[in-house]
Amino acid sequence: MRPGVLALQGDFAEHRRALEACGTDPIEVRTAADLEHVDALIIPGGESTTMLKLVDRYELREPLVKHIEAGLPVFGTCAGAIVLASKASDGEPPLGVLDVAVRRNAYGRQRESFEAEIDVTGVGIVPAVFIRAPVFEDPGEGVEVLATWAGRPVAVRSGRLLAIAFHPELAGTLAMHRFFLEEMA
Ligand code: GLN
Repeated sequence: MRPGVLALQGDFAEHRRALEACGTDPIEVRTAADLEHVDALIIPGGESTTMLKLVDRYELREPLVKHIEAGLPVFGTCAGAIVLASKASDGEPPLGVLDVAVRRNAYGRQRESFEAEIDVTGVGIVPAVFIRAPVFEDPGEGVEVLATWAGRPVAVRSGRLLAIAFHPELAGTLAMHRFFLEEMA
């Protein structure tokens, strides 16, 4: 199994290290050709407007949607979750492959970033770092909420797509990466 990390913007290097620590040999994905070589993909946190602009500039939108519709397992974290969503409150149009709406920066500014312990179905309690995180809203039929925080969904799963509002690569545990690799990929 060869996972990839979308490496256009954001903290892809931390995800690559986490995937290496899980015993895999990940690829940094920057082109449609790179995408052909991966069996699973992480879309990292960062800044979703910039990331989506780069997705378009690198002509990755269509190939990403095509691979996801064909069953590519994808783990979107924070900005990566926004990239997958069907609708975003503002910014560039997301890929529209995951039936949730996202409200960007819903917890406020950078200084309102926080850490919490989150109980994720199938994973257990994980430390979670929220940095200008989005809120997931209106999960559609077929979208399973795996975790909530303050009454709002912060981890959802739909088929082979996993989306979380926090940063697992900064939390000092590989639990979310292992869950994605072992249960979904
Ligand atoms: N606020 C960022 C956005 O809307 C997401 C932040 C993050 O990935 N930590 O794209």
